[in-house]
Amino acid sequence: MTPVLRLLPVIAVRRRLFVETVVWSIVTQVAVLAVALGLALVVGQVAAGTPVSLPAVTVTLVAVAVLAAAATSRESWVSHGLAYGLIGILRGRVFGALRRALPSRRQHHRTGELVTTVMGDIETLEWLYAHTVAQTLSAALILSVSTFVSIAITPLLLLVWLPLLVVGVVVPLVTARLARRNAQALSDGAARVRSELLDTIRGIRELTGADALDAQLGRITDDTRDHARVQRREASRLGVERGIADAMFALAAVGAIAVALQDSAAVEAAAIPLAVTVAVAGLGPAAQIAELLRNAGTLRESAARILRALDQAPAIDPARTAPAAVRAGEAGLVLDGVGFAYDEARPVLDRFDLHVRPGEIVALTGPSGAGKTTAARLTLRLWDPDDGSIRIDGVDLRAMPEDRLRELVAVVPQSSPLLHGTIRSNLVLGRPDSPDEDVRRAARAAGLDDPDVGLPLGLDTPVGEHGTGLSGGQRARVAIARALLREPRVLVLDEATASLDHEADTAILDLLNRSRDRAVLLIAHRPATIARADRQVVLRPWSPVSRA
Ligand code: ATP
Repeated sequence: MTPVLRLLPVIAVRRRLFVETVVWSIVTQVAVLAVALGLALVVGQVAAGTPVSLPAVTVTLVAVAVLAAAATSRESWVSHGLAYGLIGILRGRVFGALRRALPSRRQHHRTGELVTTVMGDIETLEWLYAHTVAQTLSAALILSVSTFVSIAITPLLLLVWLPLLVVGVVVPLVTARLARRNAQALSDGAARVRSELLDTIRGIRELTGADALDAQLGRITDDTRDHARVQRREASRLGVERGIADAMFALAAVGAIAVALQDSAAVEAAAIPLAVTVAVAGLGPAAQIAELLRNAGTLRESAARILRALDQAPAIDPARTAPAAVRAGEAGLVLDGVGFAYDEARPVLDRFDLHVRPGEIVALTGPSGAGKTTAARLTLRLWDPDDGSIRIDGVDLRAMPEDRLRELVAVVPQSSPLLHGTIRSNLVLGRPDSPDEDVRRAARAAGLDDPDVGLPLGLDTPVGEHGTGLSGGQRARVAIARALLREPRVLVLDEATASLDHEADTAILDLLNRSRDRAVLLIAHRPATIARADRQVVLRPWSPVSRA
């Protein structure tokens, strides 16, 4: 089945709006055509001197015109309702799939590209389902009426507008390859510029520090220039195509007059305006037919990309659950014979054991790349271990509802994302209903109230995007306080205090030491930090020899 059809069940929930869109679109087209043909008929009659009841004609035409206006307005209303509904459904489904699949073990995509593709593709498909199907059916209707009226006047009329209709469809198809190439280049170019801009904005300080900002801006300028070049190429192609389409309409009108003059025996003078109108109206659907044929490939590709996003394997296999049985007497965090690999050829963790009891701070150390952060991520169940199991208070993470796991574990990485707002809004991010007293206690525990930390506005200190406006140490304290506010049973600090000075680092760890219920896993390199832990576990990097 083609991807476009495979996606149909996704939009089935909007069936009623879809049918309404089609019906109103057809009513609109019929009414507009009726006004045009009716007017032509009246003009012909008047020109031929046939008596016409002007009031009756006026009332009829105005009534049909009002119906056309009302139907157009209704069609626009329902088709936009359908369009936004479909965008919402498809984006919801795709983001749901991405959320389950990300973070994938391996990062294939740059975020900017992924977002551009998914947003663009969904809008392309929405255009098909919400607008094109109805328009195509209306086009078929116009073609039938035009054919019927033409034959009624003189079949010769068909010889005027049918070949022009074919030309009107063929011209855009001939340029379709170029149009597709341009569209692809435009989409790639926009994605590239967006990704580069995002990377630059995120890394602006680092780029400035490395004296690389001008070079990066130069790259963005070059890419923008390339993008503009393709835009110009596409605009001139479109201009030529539209010019040819306009010429076709003019030719149809002239051709219809020529046929009428040539065949005056068959075509009465009164029918000449009708003949001209019907010849021009018959060409109308050419643009829609061509657009649909031309976009068929793009639509298929967009649908296929969306299906690929929807079909992504979830990061956690929902079928791999574990028995819900609790291991009696096992408190705290346990990694039991854990094996894990991002890449099958090179495991990161191999039969790794660790037990952090409540009230204990265990330092996890080891050389860079040994797998310490990986162990922290597994504790959050971003992925499941390939071998062994991870348990909290004797319960396998795979047997735990996700909400429960999020309550039990908090991981603070070295750089935590902070959002635009205040320190308070950042602290309560995961617990918006936290009582003020709890927020203050967590802030105190992370030393945010210490006068030496330099935050005179305290919890009301403004925070910029990505934590701008705060120092590295202040950001680290906010991240730790945010985790503490959740009162997790297991707290993993992954180099979270690395940007604090020795005294601050020590003070925070001493405060953490006071909780008898919490198991703290401290990933650290600094000897002074490691020294504050109750004990140390060293993680050795995997090697084929260590495995043997
Ligand atoms: P450091 O002390 O430098 O922070 P670490 O001990 O925390 O290092 P990890 O970050 O767990 O080490 O990385 C362990 C190994 O896994 C490294 O070789 C790293 O390149 C690899 N790795 C980490 N994340 C991914 C990923 N998403 N995809 C593929 N490989 C990864």
